[in-house]
Amino acid sequence: MAAAQPLLELRDVSKHFHGGGIFKQGRKVQANKQISLSLGVRECLGLVGESGSGKSTLGRVILGIEKPESGEVFFQGVNLYGKDKAAIRQVRRDLQVVFQDCFSSVNPRMTAGASISEPLENYTRLNYREQLRTVGELLELVGLNPEDAYKYPHQFSGGQLQRVCIARAISLRPKLIVLDEAVSSLDVVVQKQILDLLSKLREELDMSYVFISHDLSAVAHLADRLAVMCAGEIVERLDTMEDIHCLTHPVSVALLDAVLPALPENRAGTVCDIAAAAKTIGEERSSHGI
Ligand code: ADP
Ligand code: MG
Repeated sequence: MAAAQPLLELRDVSKHFHGGGIFKQGRKVQANKQISLSLGVRECLGLVGESGSGKSTLGRVILGIEKPESGEVFFQGVNLYGKDKAAIRQVRRDLQVVFQDCFSSVNPRMTAGASISEPLENYTRLNYREQLRTVGELLELVGLNPEDAYKYPHQFSGGQLQRVCIARAISLRPKLIVLDEAVSSLDVVVQKQILDLLSKLREELDMSYVFISHDLSAVAHLADRLAVMCAGEIVERLDTMEDIHCLTHPVSVALLDAVLPALPENRAGTVCDIAAAAKTIGEERSSHGI
């Protein structure tokens, strides 16, 4: 029997930019270098790496909005940069994104309800009453109240507004969400709540995630698999997060180092001990409900 088709498949994707401005003098930046990866249904791929390593570019390539110079991106078997525009439009609704900065992701002059119902208006033919009901249900799904539909962005906290952005992202019941540093600007307590919400929604709605972050402890919370990026390349991969202690690339080790306990006596010299320490922090966070 043939293996099931992956939800998302990238084959040898490369993307470069020419630096603009008087200081960069058109210097070529290779943001993504021959990247191949695949993702199955209900899987969460953690994409980590230092700032500038090419994570967001890869996220945009996956979303079909940043055309690579070479390589192919298949989503549900459709080449996102191919010729079949009708098929591309059809699968685009199954691909959504949540960014780090929720305040700039929504129009400050639009109520939460209006923001959430925008994708519904673009892709569905719900009448006013059905839209109202759907928006109320979506707000409840993300832990807010249906009445919150009438509030403006400035009337929400950062965590609440990120819930609104998640409600908007799931409004068309997508199959894949790219979460680009989606919890990075939130404090640890709210981070944990949003990570738990994302985990719950993934189960309930059968979604897959590409979870982009520079914070390995947040990634460890949600991801099934891991890809570490450095200078546009995937330099290390894990097929299970259980093996987090086996990471060896210097970038991976530095990311683990960043989640080490503050006290020097709790630090140990080996990579394995560093990883174990990182895991313990995650577990302690969970047991304390943060
Ligand atoms: P990350 O999300 O890991 O921080 P990015 O994908 O944003 O990394 O950026 C990777 C590299 O590509 C960086 O050197 C960045 O300056 C460059 N880059 C990203 N987008 C553009 C763009 N639109 N124009 C020029 N350079 C870009
Ligand atoms: Mg980024």
